[in-house]
Parts: sequence; structure tokens; C-alpha cells
Amino acid sequence: DTISVKDLAMKMNKSAGELIKKLMGLGVMATINQEVDVETAEILANEFGFEVDIKVDESTYDFIEEIEDDPADLVPRPCVVTVMGHVDHGKTSLLDAIRESNVTASEAGGITQHIGAYQVVHDGKKITFLDTPGHEAFTAMRARGAQVTDIAILVVAADDGVMPQTVEAINHSKAAEVPIIVAINKIDKPDARPERVMQELTEHGLVPEEWGGDTICVPVSAKTREGLENLLEMILLVAEVQELKANPKRLAKGTVIEAELDKGRGPVATVLVQTGTLKIGDSIVAGTAYGKVRAMIDDKGRRVKKAGPSTPVEVLGLSDVPQAGDIFHAVKDDKTAKTISEKRLAKKREEELKATTKVSLDDLFKQIQEGNVKELNIIIKADVQGSIEALKQSLMKLSTDEVRVNAIHGGVGAITETDIMLASASNAIVIGFNVRPDANARKAAETEKVDIRLYRVIYNAIEDVKAAMQGLLDPEF
Ligand code: GDP
Repeated sequence: DTISVKDLAMKMNKSAGELIKKLMGLGVMATINQEVDVETAEILANEFGFEVDIKVDESTYDFIEEIEDDPADLVPRPCVVTVMGHVDHGKTSLLDAIRESNVTASEAGGITQHIGAYQVVHDGKKITFLDTPGHEAFTAMRARGAQVTDIAILVVAADDGVMPQTVEAINHSKAAEVPIIVAINKIDKPDARPERVMQELTEHGLVPEEWGGDTICVPVSAKTREGLENLLEMILLVAEVQELKANPKRLAKGTVIEAELDKGRGPVATVLVQTGTLKIGDSIVAGTAYGKVRAMIDDKGRRVKKAGPSTPVEVLGLSDVPQAGDIFHAVKDDKTAKTISEKRLAKKREEELKATTKVSLDDLFKQIQEGNVKELNIIIKADVQGSIEALKQSLMKLSTDEVRVNAIHGGVGAITETDIMLASASNAIVIGFNVRPDANARKAAETEKVDIRLYRVIYNAIEDVKAAMQGLLDPEF
């Protein structure tokens, strides 16, 4: 991180000449356009009686110099799809059916590896499916700064309709601004009611195209495989509109999808290459782990020498097991990889000591004043639907010119770990009305520093949020 002498001078309302003179006094020869590092800038600012507020990037991108792509190097890349929906609505069956229907003759008989993601070819175009269904994994990754999904497939069973986790999946996709395609599954069943599903979706803001909205709904059966072709077609259609592009010529960058310690092979990570091309022998860092790519295995179990944008591969050769959601980068040499990993480890220890700042009611006013918060995101969990609606309406009315109050998710039932991960990813607070967090949620809230507030009286919840926005909240003891 650097700043030019000119910019620094402007920030302090001094002339560049004065700064250059000071720098010379410190033994640094500088010109007006010269970039100085953070340390030098800090010393210089202190000399003029200024305090420096260094903003540290909390993401795992740390210590990596981002590469600027030449637009001429950008080429189309396959889209990356995540399947979400209520339990038992057929997410796994659908993923399996798509995979099996698309095994080509040359691959048949070969072993299909489960490496956490797979690719199929439709109409000569590739589509990458993440093999861990559900919005939990999706949001857990987002909480770590990884945005991998281009399109969400929302599976809704035609005989069951929209259920609580369907609504969660909708809200999680919306929070991530990922387009949704609805797969109305199990249409082979005699009691399938696709029309009813469409009606229920409309109540949650997804209006089918047939009814004048912009939500694509595809009736399918994972069992008979009816409609699967159509679903793939629609995925390609939505992907085309997104004009997804990446630069295959640069050093690879992507996200760790899953990772484990294999007894024989050591740390094994499935990564999704998002841009660049990953090659055998590349030096890589993934979170705090580093190493050299010793071997790569694709989703068909074949050893490969390189992997381009949107390709999932298993990577061997890391020093340590990274976490799902960690960003990985290929860097120019082993020494760079090792240095970055060491710096990250040191910073991680440091960060574990001081809590990261997430929004909380206690310091909301301060954060608003500092301009850090323009929107207050709230997740509401309650014992009955009616309370959610009542809370939502009243809370949104508290919006002011400075801060907009958004209820990003509401659901009936206990506060779960998934709610906490959504809160963490969206910088939200969680309000529980006549419900409590379960043990996992409590733990997650502690590590993710998410503020949970529990109430038995709606009026108290509203008063607290109102007071917090005005800086009048009594501290909790
Ligand atoms: P998940 O929990 O969403 O991953 O759901 P599964 O894929 O495990 O499916 C739940 C149940 O529904 C299983 O018993 C499947 O065999 C069944 N199932 C899934 N898709 C279909 C379908 O299209 N038609 C019928 N009849 N059953 C299905």
C-alpha cells in the first residue's frame, strides 16, 4: 500500500514542496508523483501534527498485489452454478442426474470423482456445478469474502411447495445479488402442483416469466430426467446475459471449495480457478497455507497439467489444509508464497487478539457518525410469522436520511448458525423474538462477532434500535 506525495499533501492541505523538504530532512529523496509506503506516510503526517488512520483490508487477499487485466486478454468463461432449496426437495438428486446424463461415451466406465464440483457440456458450452448443495455452504464462503456463484438454482418440490429453507435460499441469493433460476422438481409425481409453487414464489418476490415477471421457472424431474435439457438451456441463457469473462493468461486466482488431510497424499484442496490458469509447478498461497502444485486431478479423475477459468481441480502440494472459502493465488515464486503465508499467519494471530468490528447496536451510532454504516441490515427470527411482519414493518419505518433499515431475512424458529453466517456476510444484526440461538449459533456468533438481540416485547426491540440509531442506547451489562 502506497500513497503519492501529491495526494498526501492534498489530504493535509500542505504543498508538495513542504512534504518533499520534510522527506529530504528524513533522508528520502522524493518527487511530487513519487509513491511512499504507509510507514513513511505515517511518519511524515506525524511531523505535520496529523494522526494517520490506516484502514486494514480484512479479507484473505492480504499481501497480494492485484493484477490489472488488459481488457484484450479477457475471454468468455463458463458460469458457476450452486443448487439450493429445502431439504428433501431433490438438490442432490438433481446434481446427480445432471452429472450422469452428461457423461460422454469416452468417459463412461471411468470413475467420476466427487471433488466438490463438476463440469458438464451442453450445446458445446461448459457449465460448472458446485457439488455442495445448500445456501449454508454458499453463505459461509461469502462470509469469508469468496464470491464464486454466478447463478443459483432454487429447487422447489412440486408436491411440497415453498418451505422455510426455500425462503432462506431466496434471501441468501438476493443478499449476494446472484440471479435465481427456479427448478420445480418432482413433476413426475401425481400430486405435483407446479402452478401452486409459482403462486407461492410470487408471494416471495419471484414472479414467473409466464406471469409477466422475470423469474425463469423450469419444471423438471430428477427421477425421470424430464426437463433437465431445458434447465441447462436456461442456465446458459442467463449466463450469456451476464457476459462472464476472465483472463486465462495471468497467474491463477480462485477459491478453495473443500479441503482435507488425506492420509496418503497430504493436504488436498479442491479449488475453483476463477481467473488465470493454474499449472503444475506453480507456487500458490491459499489462506495461510502455501506450497507448490505437485499434481492436479479433474472431476473425471484424470490428472491434468493445467486448469483455466471456472475449472474445478483437486490440488496436491500444499503445506497445510486451507479452509473452504479461502482465496488462493498463484504467485511468481516459492519465496513469495512462503513470505505471504508467514505475514498472514502473523496477522491472523494479531487479529485473533483484537476483535474485528462488525456492526452492533452498542456502537451503531459511532459507526453512523464515522460514515461506516449507511444501511442497518437486520435478520429477524421469531416464533410466529405475524411477529416477523410486525417487526419488519416497524423497523423499516425507523429509516432516516443517514441510515436505511433493511430487514434482509425473516424466519420462524430458533436462531441458527446459518442465520449467523448470513449476518456475518451481510454485516447484519440478528433480532430474536421469543426465540433463542441454538448452541452452534451461539458459538458462531462469538467467532463471527455478530450481535444477537433477544426480545419478548416488540415495542422493546423497536425502541432499542431507535435508541441505538440516535446514540441513546444504554450499554448492556
Ligand atoms: P435434497 O435433500 O434436496 O438433496 O433431496 P434429495 O436429492 O436427497 O431427494 C430427496 C428425496 O426425493 C429422495 O428420496 C429422492 O429420491 C426423491 N426425489 C428427488 N427428486 C425426485 C423427482 O424428481 N421425482 C421423485 N418422484 N422423487 C424425487
